[in-house]
Amino acid sequence: MSEETIFSKIIRQEIPTPLLYQDELVTAFRDISPRVDSHILIVPNKLIATINDVTNEDELTLGRMITVAKKLAKEEGIDENGYRLIINCNSDGGQEVYHIHMHLLGGQPLGPMLCV
Ligand code: 5GP
Repeated sequence: MSEETIFSKIIRQEIPTPLLYQDELVTAFRDISPRVDSHILIVPNKLIATINDVTNEDELTLGRMITVAKKLAKEEGIDENGYRLIINCNSDGGQEVYHIHMHLLGGQPLGPMLCV
């Protein structure tokens, strides 16, 4: 059983954080420490610790994360210029919060894909 992170509390609004989107599967809110002009996190409501822990039953949720990213990118006005979606996994992947989340990054040129 994975331990809850701060994201579960945000999803349940026990820690008040303005939500950009929420439905029965996913929740989206702005990153507390934005790395670029537009930095949004799209999070499954269900606690899944890492991408290594996803199952076939999560496919609808994972697909929803993409369609919500598309919707929010349009609302942010970054869809035409473009953006990047990132999911980090475990330590080499740079994961800090062990509740999977997709970073929606844009609003400026993002440069090369990898920083190591
Ligand atoms: P990771 O490195 O796990 O892929 O990304 C975790 C992200 O969560 C980081 O970009 C970090 O700034 C963000 N974050 C951590 N704690 C909070 C929080 O309490 N609220 C919000 N909105 N973002 C958080």
